[in-house]
Amino acid sequence: MSQSKVRHVCLISGGKDSTALAVYLRQTRPGLEMEYVFCDTHKELDETYEYLARIEGFLGKEVIRLSAGLGERGFDHHLDMFRGYLPSPSMRWCTRKLKIEPFERYIGDDPVYLYVGIRADENREGYISTKPNIIPVFPFKDDGVVKEDVFRILEESGIGLPKYYEWRSRSGCYFCFYQRKIEWVGLLERHPDLFEKAKAYEKVEQGYTWVQGESLEELSRPERVAQIKAEEAKRRERAEKRRRPRTLAEAFTGSYSDEDEVQGCLVCQL
Ligand code: SF4
Repeated sequence: MSQSKVRHVCLISGGKDSTALAVYLRQTRPGLEMEYVFCDTHKELDETYEYLARIEGFLGKEVIRLSAGLGERGFDHHLDMFRGYLPSPSMRWCTRKLKIEPFERYIGDDPVYLYVGIRADENREGYISTKPNIIPVFPFKDDGVVKEDVFRILEESGIGLPKYYEWRSRSGCYFCFYQRKIEWVGLLERHPDLFEKAKAYEKVEQGYTWVQGESLEELSRPERVAQIKAEEAKRRERAEKRRRPRTLAEAFTGSYSDEDEVQGCLVCQL
């Protein structure tokens, strides 16, 4: 690999870890000519776009938007190709079509170091592309950066957390099937228009629902919403009892804890 041609790329998902990594790279490797890239599915939350603007303000550099979800290559087109079969954890075609393939097209055959924000306190393995010219680098793992550090980095940079963190622990599409039920309730209450759009994608008779075994119509009924909220309150109470003193992360957000970070999609939700 010729050193002079190597590109350095940080894929930003709109989530906290990849954002903290962009800040960290700027601080620890100031000489690197970084490319910051965001794959836009055009099914993102407004809060994510607002967060990207904040990130650009800090970096003083554009986050390149790969328009991954428009027109013939958009989510709706691929959904048609998959005959209306909604993506799910076991059939995650959306990530490949809307994130990985556009990213690989953008990279081409250039040798690239791809910086990935998996933390030292996480177990998950991260590999975004199998292309041999894309070499993953894990600065947080290498340098022992853990969740507390991520919150500190974001706080000290002035970027903070994305606004959706008040009700949802992950970045990505508004209809992402990795959302927990309480997050669907959050979508219903914060973005009722998007909840309706998500609902319109479901084909309940054929069993195509975003949440396994329950349609969004059912989930949005007042008695069901109240039940989900009550279960969440109990879960938090139990978690709170087990976890004293509060970590910086919890004090900072007043909201999400480790338990809320259900394993999701590496590309969309770092
Ligand atoms: S955020 Fe969720 S729905 Fe969107 S592309 Fe990623 S895995 Fe698929």
